[in-house]
Amino acid sequence: MTKKRYMVGNWKMNHKKEEIDAFFKGLEGVDRNLACEAWIAPQTLHIPLLLERAAKTGKVQIGAQNVCNQVSGAYTGETSPEALTDLGASFSIIGHSERRSIYGETDKLLNEKTKLSLATGLTVIFCVGESLEERESEKTIDVVKGQIVEGLKGLSEAQMDKLLIAYEPVWAIGTGKVATPEQAQEVHAFIRLQMAEMFGAKGRAVPILYGGSVKPDNFAELLDCPDIEGGLVGGASLKPKDYSKLCQIADEKSR
Ligand code: PEP
Repeated sequence: MTKKRYMVGNWKMNHKKEEIDAFFKGLEGVDRNLACEAWIAPQTLHIPLLLERAAKTGKVQIGAQNVCNQVSGAYTGETSPEALTDLGASFSIIGHSERRSIYGETDKLLNEKTKLSLATGLTVIFCVGESLEERESEKTIDVVKGQIVEGLKGLSEAQMDKLLIAYEPVWAIGTGKVATPEQAQEVHAFIRLQMAEMFGAKGRAVPILYGGSVKPDNFAELLDCPDIEGGLVGGASLKPKDYSKLCQIADEKSR
């Protein structure tokens, strides 16, 4: 049985206006005929511009890389999930390893952000993943389990319809060192079981994306794994040719 695949670009803090224009001009075949999902999370500041450009493709959905755990009020410098849905953004990444490690975001904070985002109508891509040290000391499964149990605590089965998990081993993010399909599949299979244990059949059906040095030349074999439904892609998603190629691969695997 074929299943819908996801190609999600995380642009991090990259691109200026001119590069954004060039990106959309350079896309090939990223249009409403794609059978996969094609999403991009730019810098928050660029979301309105991307929404306008993406509308012309008839396909690409735009989301945020992070949100506040509050709807409104005295939270200087933060972005309300409600403001994002109001603009037309459809999802947010939550718990990216850079948010966890550089900005010290805790499981408790990420749980609040996830709950609020879902309540506000955003789809959430919840990121988990172990460091190199944790992998080498065989703690991968314990770490990922803890991030899921704490980060998704208190969610309902019904909310699973708006949730995706991204497994991103920290040692593979931006390093050029992709996990092997076997390494990724092993953790994805565990995540599937954990989600089923916590949220039943709805939890089992949550799409699980892999992230960490995904490129056009390694994406297809990752998507061939039974528990990998897509990619959360940083560096390669900035280039229109690579983004287009990654979408084409996800499209082929969705048919
Ligand atoms: C990411 O930003 O989530 C990521 C996986 O980056 P890269 O694809 O560059 O490793």
